[in-house]
Amino acid sequence: MSPSAQPSDPLEGSAQESGDAISHLAALTAQRDRELLDVSLAQSVLDLLPVSSVGVYRLVGSEHETRRWLCCGLARRGQVTVNDPSWVDLESLPTLEAFPLRQLVLDSRLLEQAELPSASLLAPDQRFVTVLPLMVEVGLPGVLELHADQPLTAGALRTIQTLLRVFGNFQNLLESSQRDALTGLLNRQTFDATFLKASMLGASEPINTSDSDRRANSSTGYWLGVIDIDHFKLVNDRFGHLIGDEVLVLVARIMRQSFRHYDRLYRFGGEEFVVLLRGGSEADALAAFERFRCNVEGYAFPQVGRVTVSLGFTEVQPKDTPSQAFERADQAVYQAKHQGRNQVLCYDALVRAGILENEGQHVGDVELF
Ligand code: GH3
Ligand code: MG
Ligand code: MG
Repeated sequence: MSPSAQPSDPLEGSAQESGDAISHLAALTAQRDRELLDVSLAQSVLDLLPVSSVGVYRLVGSEHETRRWLCCGLARRGQVTVNDPSWVDLESLPTLEAFPLRQLVLDSRLLEQAELPSASLLAPDQRFVTVLPLMVEVGLPGVLELHADQPLTAGALRTIQTLLRVFGNFQNLLESSQRDALTGLLNRQTFDATFLKASMLGASEPINTSDSDRRANSSTGYWLGVIDIDHFKLVNDRFGHLIGDEVLVLVARIMRQSFRHYDRLYRFGGEEFVVLLRGGSEADALAAFERFRCNVEGYAFPQVGRVTVSLGFTEVQPKDTPSQAFERADQAVYQAKHQGRNQVLCYDALVRAGILENEGQHVGDVELF
């Protein structure tokens, strides 16, 4: 609604406004794709309020890294709604401190409004900025940033705050339904959907690597890794299930620290984890998985001491089903266990070396459930 189109009957106007807000909420809560949710939010807010742009920004980067702003949805009048590609390099993103207003809102969890100094203005209709916190308990913390040519009215602020409350509740539910309760990693149930989406996207998009030409034709640019903790039954037997669970939580944390923010991390259940790694050559994937294996090996787990993992990985092929790719990586895990554990093996390399014969010949005994 434009600010000049004031309805003659205020009651009629507010009914119209809440009707608009409700229909946007209906559309938002129909969304099941977590990554598209922010884009839908930005577009809905732009449709509802007299603002020139709406951005949803979330903080990425693990606890040991510089935290940075990822634009998860940016809607501007007259332009197509966009977001930063999810695989964007962390180093290319603005740091937390580069946007003090967003940082302030994230800390205080209260909305802030400011008038930008004219020198920093990109356009006159960007003059007033309003930043609101996203009510996020599960998933990445973030803010909503609005730009307009005048300060927002109290009514507009109320509408947006209500919308954000419902959005937050919905996002928390959606995130919890897709995450493993113990570790917070993605769960087994979401794997198939994200795997197919990733492999289809990967097959149709250029990948930023030196051998991108080869990759565009013969693969998706994704690597699937299966991780199994070594002798985990012994950990439970010696120290009990609670300590066993703590090891699982710590391994998940080391995963978050070892892989990039756009790699997909899953707990498949038990002491088995999966990584969907994006981009790079076989050597790059091996280096990433090795880095993780070393990080686990070098970590002093409270009470337990040393824990190791065996890891198998394979290149995702354009026509792969999730279970085919999983099965290949799992064969490499089986081989790693057989060769002495605490190691990373690539299925494709094992086939080239004649150690594994062919796809589907051996059925690994690491359970899929
Ligand atoms: P390997 O090196 O061959 O993988 O040996 P392992 O002992 O890790 O393998 P095995 O599959 O025999 O045992 C897995 C154990 O994981 C069995 C079970 O007690 C334990 N486990 C499965 N789920 C959980 C869980 O949620 N919490 C805890 N604490 N333990 C679990
Ligand atoms: Mg195990
Ligand atoms: Mg196992």
